[in-house]
Amino acid sequence: MPIFSAFADAIVRPLLAGGLLSDTDRDRLLAELPRAAGPDLDALARAADAVRRARVGNSVSLCAIISAKSGRCGENCAFCAQSGHHQTAAPEHAFLTPPEIIAAAAAMHTAGVARFGIVASGKALPDTELALAATAITAIAATGMAPDASFGVLSRDALARLKTAGMAAYHHNLETSQAFYPHICTTRTFADNLEVLHTCRSLGIPTCSGGLFGLGESWADRADLALTLLDAEAFSIPVNFLSPIPGTRLASQPVLSRDEARRIVILLRLLLPDRQIRICGGRPTVFGPTTDNLAPLAAGADGLMVGDYLTTSGASLEDDKTGLARLGFVTP
Ligand code: SF4
Repeated sequence: MPIFSAFADAIVRPLLAGGLLSDTDRDRLLAELPRAAGPDLDALARAADAVRRARVGNSVSLCAIISAKSGRCGENCAFCAQSGHHQTAAPEHAFLTPPEIIAAAAAMHTAGVARFGIVASGKALPDTELALAATAITAIAATGMAPDASFGVLSRDALARLKTAGMAAYHHNLETSQAFYPHICTTRTFADNLEVLHTCRSLGIPTCSGGLFGLGESWADRADLALTLLDAEAFSIPVNFLSPIPGTRLASQPVLSRDEARRIVILLRLLLPDRQIRICGGRPTVFGPTTDNLAPLAAGADGLMVGDYLTTSGASLEDDKTGLARLGFVTP
């Protein structure tokens, strides 16, 4: 029997009963998880998967995104191909027209995807573009799809305007822990990002917020990020794995191993037992192009970004749906 089976069983018992990990169990997990491998890691993945089934069930939340405005960003996020501080081959284009955005959402809706995120580069969105976004959001919501938006550090008034237009949720990643954030971005602060989540909460806007892993952060940083998201009441936690892009500051950062990425998903499920753990960018980079890249869904995740990402290619949607059905997931 793997030596971690008893440990895994003990640690998930309170989670299966509807609670959270105690501080003591969280410390034990952070001591053991980074070194778990082979059958021990499999035991922890099964335990996280059991928590997923008990707390959020077998539904998988599928979302897709469109890059409504790309490049020319004044922020200096170390990983990002769209930062004006980097020399990359990322496409640059102005904000798309509402018909272009609505058509992309309709194609994904037809393919069985329930949520559609409109994403724009930049620190925030000017009023003229906000109006275009609001028009697209209203039209997408009318089809029964959930339109989400990701437009950076928006004001309270701008967020309220999008909510009135029909926005289902606002996406704004914290990216990493407060302590590590200055290594990733210095043109805005962690507090700026957290304030966006707090403003959304005060307006009754559900938030989708997570991070990017493989930046050089520690396990303590990963746990800190999870606990901040727990406290901020984000309902959906995007999990991105770094795809190092030539020309960015993190171009030579090594890609996470499959096992390290699985450990991260396990940690997030065990610290955030009732949230949607949504696997997003970097899945093919870490796990490869085949249905085998659904391995994080067997380690506690219950959400998936399908189609292409902002500046990198995604997996085949048909392959994803086939693989999810094989794992026993249903799509609402
Ligand atoms: S992650 Fe967003 S804010 Fe940061 S550089 Fe890229 S587009 Fe700009």
